[in-house]
Amino acid sequence: MPQEPRTAHSVVEASLYLTVTPCAACRHGALVVSAPVAGDAPEVVGFTTTCRNCGVAETFWFRLPVALSPADLRADPVSSNAPISTVAEPSRLIDPVQWVTLAQLELESVAATPSAGEQRWARIRAAQCLDEALKFYTPDNELPPEDALLAESSRAALREFPQRFARPRLAAQRAALPADGLVNRVVNDPPGAPRRKPWWRIW
Ligand SMILES: [Zn+2]
Repeated sequence: MPQEPRTAHSVVEASLYLTVTPCAACRHGALVVSAPVAGDAPEVVGFTTTCRNCGVAETFWFRLPVALSPADLRADPVSSNAPISTVAEPSRLIDPVQWVTLAQLELESVAATPSAGEQRWARIRAAQCLDEALKFYTPDNELPPEDALLAESSRAALREFPQRFARPRLAAQRAALPADGLVNRVVNDPPGAPRRKPWWRIW
């Protein structure tokens, strides 16, 4: 395994990380992601990506808090009823600006789909992404700390549009989405609940 696995809180979080990560070779292309594959340890999972712009392939490895079963690898982790994270600790993969961007993508997909089930799921995912963003804010600061930002694109976005990332605005957006109780109940629904499109076809 050439690359040390990155720490992820779930397969969902790992896949969302690949959504916000540009191609390392050309810095432009979005990554088309394969289904997950088993790593060399039970809690390690890999994804092979192909750049939509230059075609370069790369494999990313992630270390999860718990071991994956073969059934987990056959399942569709993002469209299954899986939480992004079950711990209070902020993400180590995705920074607060990227979480806000992911929430925005989910809310745009609400407008783009006629399916009530998919709309409901997208609003729940958007709520989960905003919850992850808000984990980075401290009570005495209305903007995320600079050192929480992982990508140059995030630093640029925060400099240019700080009002988009102000805590009161995010808290208000979050309050308009499904409440914590609903998010938790839905992610704990048994398998067989309505499913979204395969998660790796996000683009
Ligand atoms: Zn590329």
